[in-house]
Amino acid sequence: MKINIGWLYPDLMNTYGDRGNIIALSHRAKMMGIKSAVNKISINEPGDLILKMDILFMGGAQDKQQEIVNQDLKNKGLFLKKAINDGVPGLYVCGAYQFLGKYYKEADGKIIDGIGVFDLYTESSKFGDPRCIGNIVIESTLFPKIKLVGFENHGGRTYLADKKQAFATVFKGYGNNGEDKTEGIYFKNSFGTYLHGPILPKNPEIADYLIEKALERKYRNVGVERDRPLKKINNSWEEKARSWVIDRL
Ligand code: GLN
Repeated sequence: MKINIGWLYPDLMNTYGDRGNIIALSHRAKMMGIKSAVNKISINEPGDLILKMDILFMGGAQDKQQEIVNQDLKNKGLFLKKAINDGVPGLYVCGAYQFLGKYYKEADGKIIDGIGVFDLYTESSKFGDPRCIGNIVIESTLFPKIKLVGFENHGGRTYLADKKQAFATVFKGYGNNGEDKTEGIYFKNSFGTYLHGPILPKNPEIADYLIEKALERKYRNVGVERDRPLKKINNSWEEKARSWVIDRL
């Protein structure tokens, strides 16, 4: 079994350790006994490469990089939208998450259109509002009995059309907007979230979830059952690290 990981705009959308998510996906796949390949998809790569991927990832950026990527998404956005709607598992952090909504209003009032696959919009903080910065702890029904941790740093406030689509509830921190306690979105196997940190090494359950969904989709769709159970991974160090962060907050 092999999974193709698509890393969107690694040269432009990659802040606060987001590349650690790619390392975590590859490493955990290897520990489970699954081969993986990382494919970088940026401005010079063709958009249809997105449709050959089993897992997609895009990290965050500041407004300047977001404007460049936004131009390129006018073409690649159609492929990305199709992949997400088809259920390709994915993780989209902060600036990437904002792009997948209807629009992102920058600090200077400029509107950047999103690809509109997620039913949400984002507006930058008004003058005087604080940026949403710090460690964040969230709870998600997708990962019961555990608290997930990360680091957030965003000016944008995101509002979901349907709060039931939220990925998680904020236990500590800001999340989508610092008001309604929602964090991120979960839509057809894709996570949009404000959690940098990076999120996957800190919360390996989410990495495994993405890998398992990718395998399910890739091998069951062509009628091939998984040939053997995935190897179990000992997460005791990750769990200790996470408890340490939660206890500190
Ligand atoms: N520019 C966006 C904001 O500040 C995204 C920041 C990020 O991706 N960390 O809201």
